[in-house]
Amino acid sequence: MKKGYFDKYGGVYVSETLMPAVQELEKAFNKCKNDKKFNNELNNLLKNYAGRPTPLSFCERLSKKLGCKIYLKREDLAHTGAHKINNALGQALLAKYMGKKRIIAETGAGQHGVAAATAAAKLGLECEIYMGTIDIERQKPNVFRMKLLSAKVNPVSSGGRTLKDAINEALRDWTANVKTTYYLLGSVLGPHPYPEMVAHFQSIIGKETRKQILAAEGKLPNAIIACVGGGSNAIGIFRAFLKDKDVDLIGVEAGGLGIESGKHAARFADQKLGRLGILHGTMTYVLQDKFGQIYNTHSISAGLDYSAVGPEHSHLRDLKRAAYTFATDKECLEAFKLLSEEEGIIPALESAHAVAYALKLAKKMNKEDIIVINLSGRGDKDIFEAARHLGVKV
Ligand SMILES: *Cc1c(COP(=O)(O)O)cnc(C)c1O
Repeated sequence: MKKGYFDKYGGVYVSETLMPAVQELEKAFNKCKNDKKFNNELNNLLKNYAGRPTPLSFCERLSKKLGCKIYLKREDLAHTGAHKINNALGQALLAKYMGKKRIIAETGAGQHGVAAATAAAKLGLECEIYMGTIDIERQKPNVFRMKLLSAKVNPVSSGGRTLKDAINEALRDWTANVKTTYYLLGSVLGPHPYPEMVAHFQSIIGKETRKQILAAEGKLPNAIIACVGGGSNAIGIFRAFLKDKDVDLIGVEAGGLGIESGKHAARFADQKLGRLGILHGTMTYVLQDKFGQIYNTHSISAGLDYSAVGPEHSHLRDLKRAAYTFATDKECLEAFKLLSEEEGIIPALESAHAVAYALKLAKKMNKEDIIVINLSGRGDKDIFEAARHLGVKV
């Protein structure tokens, strides 16, 4: 396969001015990923700061109810409450090794902004976060968190004033300040080497899961389910199982109000709007209208709302190595409630999409079959949104 590509997907579709920055990054990443000192330092951070390994929890009550064995990979227990810290620490450390003093990042829901600001604070780096003004209004607690962590939040009022526009601004800043600045991108998106690099830093999820399920059950699971926004938590858990053809890998997109309604974030499932295209430097499936105008996404979980999906997912889908489906807002809320009630775990609304599909898949399983759900994050951040949708006053 051509370097930086996953078959026809991926690549480096950036302006000439950004090319040297992307190449410098690729060189540094290739050096550091095999460097003993770098890896020791990162592993120490993951263990003693982020709280890894995260547990693989057996869901006793839910399993009984559903009629097969359900396990959760507990990324909700990692520091800052989601898997995003794995990537943020990896890249922030890389920035330090590259001699960069300043980190910039984009954020939509604010989760990646918080993770990036956290890693920057821990490693003593300056941090600026680009965020659309609509998102700033919607995600006030995370904006305050970033500020507490001494990050500067730069409001973006161009375009749709959400994630896509924030990424455009971050890319612009990077182009202008390449010498001093490291762009810490939040998912398996963007130009090469980002999709490969973010997958590398997130692949710890799958490596741990593989060991943990073998220790607990003496065999691999029948299926692994993860929600897919950009796709980093999904790739993170999938990668360790790609060669195990008997393990079904399933990605769940945000189906919003339903594909027919046009209000969703399902790039694969929408056969009308989800088409091959280029967004933010990478070739992949992109939601767009018939004129190629990028289509804005809508779902109950802001963290799954992005117009494109990571290029490696497009490739895995073509290969039929992973299958992709979606859960609607309604199905997500039901799963959110069920996991809270049955297991005492309030999942992130993003992660609840994966739980929602597990509820369907379990019906086709036998008693001894095993499903692992990647619980990408905790739901404390979502309680007000969930209450609003459930019609509860808090
Ligand atoms: C950001 C986020 C996601 C979506 O991002 P991916 O790159 O698709 O993993 C999923 N779950 C949680 C909890 C998040 O914060």
